[in-house]
Amino acid sequence: MTAPIDLRSDTVTRPTPAMRAAMAAAPVGDDQYGEDPTTNRLQSRLAELLGKEAAIWLPTGTMANQVALRVLTRPGDEVIAARESHAAWHEAGGGAANAGVQIHEIGQQGRFTAQQMLDAIKPRNFAIFPATTLVEVENTHNRAGGVVVPQDEVLRICTAAREHGLASFLDGARLWNASVASGRAPAELAAPFDLVAVAFSKGLGAPGGSLLAGSKSMIQSAHRHRQRLGGAMRQNGIYAAAALHGLDHHLQRLGEDHANARTFAERLVAGAPVALDLATVQTNIIVFHLPPALAIDAPTLAARARERGVLLNAFASRTLRAVTHLDVTPAQCAQAAQALVALLGG
Ligand SMILES: *Cc1c(COP(=O)(O)O)cnc(C)c1O
Repeated sequence: MTAPIDLRSDTVTRPTPAMRAAMAAAPVGDDQYGEDPTTNRLQSRLAELLGKEAAIWLPTGTMANQVALRVLTRPGDEVIAARESHAAWHEAGGGAANAGVQIHEIGQQGRFTAQQMLDAIKPRNFAIFPATTLVEVENTHNRAGGVVVPQDEVLRICTAAREHGLASFLDGARLWNASVASGRAPAELAAPFDLVAVAFSKGLGAPGGSLLAGSKSMIQSAHRHRQRLGGAMRQNGIYAAAALHGLDHHLQRLGEDHANARTFAERLVAGAPVALDLATVQTNIIVFHLPPALAIDAPTLAARARERGVLLNAFASRTLRAVTHLDVTPAQCAQAAQALVALLGG
């Protein structure tokens, strides 16, 4: 059987031969001593690219988010985030376990307005309430289908947050996709926020790694929290070289992933009675639902698709997610959609 078309996530990509060569050739040192030249090069390049004073490597996006919470909050605080954000759904309760915060999910479809945020801030005048100290924005928003958060709303949210004494954090694991889709530079998308996380292990195709960028004092604090969580590495330049290679060679091509997602989504809605709002297909993620009229549920559809060589994730009992990336071609994306249409009786 030929290799499956793997649309479970953009994290399934394997480093290309050129990326592996860059990794093998990378100058390295001990990053806990601040002596890994390739990691240092990546951190200063990213600080500049994101328009921040400083940056720090983290082994995963989850740890970047956890460190951000610890830098910007205290135990017992409340964090406002979009409904179904990664911080609330995909970090095994880390916000509560590692930072001692509770997450208040608001809005819908990955978005909320500044007014909704203001309405969610707990009153400051009575000790029964938790202190709302942080707002987090996920851009693009994964579970909402990779939607790009409109930048005018981001500006209103972060301005209102500052006026009300809240810090602001951007979970930009897919900020590169948001940048390519919106035509806005990463620094522009990052500018309104105190602290920003980006990932190298998704659209850029690196085998691992994320990074936090912000003020010098916040990044200094992040160093201690990274150490405490056990995330300080040694000859990390091997990973950092993959990230640099991804930035040089795989950033501008993300538009191809977005076009492939569009093709997949259009073929799927044309051929099968799924609930899929094409307006949500703005980047490389397609989240769709199986209406009650369809007898099949999401885990069964995912299992049948797997038998036909197409891998995708059942996100909920009637919700599925497909993600396009570096390792799938336009033809494979079209073929995957046709396989689903056939399974759904189209
Ligand atoms: C994948 C993801 C993360 C976490 O990244 P890992 O490297 O898998 O830990 C954080 N936030 C968002 C929005 C993500 O999609």
